[in-house]
Amino acid sequence: MEIIPLAFDSLGTRSMCTSVITKDVKIMIDPGVSLAPRRYNLPPHPLELERQGLHWKEIVKYTRECDIIIITHYHYDHHNPEEDLDIYKDKLVFIKHPEDHINKSQAKRAAYFLKKIEGIPKEILFSDGNQFTFNNTKITFSPPVFHGTNNKLGYVTEVLIDDGYKLIHTSDVEGPAIPDQVDFILKNKPNLVIIDGPLTSMLGFRYSQANLDASNENMIKIINECPVDTLIIDHHILRDLKWKERIAGVFQVAQEKGVKLITAAEFSGKPIDMLEAHRRESYKEHPISS
Ligand SMILES: [Zn+2]
Ligand SMILES: [Zn+2]
Repeated sequence: MEIIPLAFDSLGTRSMCTSVITKDVKIMIDPGVSLAPRRYNLPPHPLELERQGLHWKEIVKYTRECDIIIITHYHYDHHNPEEDLDIYKDKLVFIKHPEDHINKSQAKRAAYFLKKIEGIPKEILFSDGNQFTFNNTKITFSPPVFHGTNNKLGYVTEVLIDDGYKLIHTSDVEGPAIPDQVDFILKNKPNLVIIDGPLTSMLGFRYSQANLDASNENMIKIINECPVDTLIIDHHILRDLKWKERIAGVFQVAQEKGVKLITAAEFSGKPIDMLEAHRRESYKEHPISS
């Protein structure tokens, strides 16, 4: 399988958008990209807006070519209900259930999105806990799991794509800190996992040290119990300039086991470019003339 990260926090935008191409099908996971509306009390720097535009262009290009679109949940960094809706034309679309295991805000966004794409896709199917086969490629979705460490932000589905090589995309689990989030991974024995990582930029506020400890333990479990060659860690944790030290224990075990623990940028052979975490520096180095 070919795995192409298209937009990720390590590439300068908020997203986990990934194209996965097997011999049987071309799959797009979460075609959306956004930016932090405020960080350090600053709005997005023009550099970030420009990057978002570039990423969206790439996402549109790859999504037009794909057969299957997966939407793991209804946050705007994972889908885009406003632009280029023709990318859904004639596609098979697997969506997180829009009414079951969902919070109010996401249910509202789901209904809006479904209205916007009405009649465009070939078929829309609910993904939650289901499995679909396309010749030698199997796509399996976890039952809905917490978006984060409780149900306040709703639920997401994790995605397993298996063509002999097994990839799991966790979506926004913010960890994984919770048993059923990590159980889906341990049970399915993937070769590569794309993890969004603990939300350590909010450590002590919206994210607790206990949940960080649990996430680290769980990532170490994945390395020890699954035949992984690579863990791609990105999205939430890449909003923290100290991200490497937050998961130092995981880096150590990965190194001992010869497992690559890398960002989506590094996986793509590109430099890490944490534009959101470096927003203050962007304003200093490239001041906005008023
Ligand atoms: Zn989300
Ligand atoms: Zn997200």
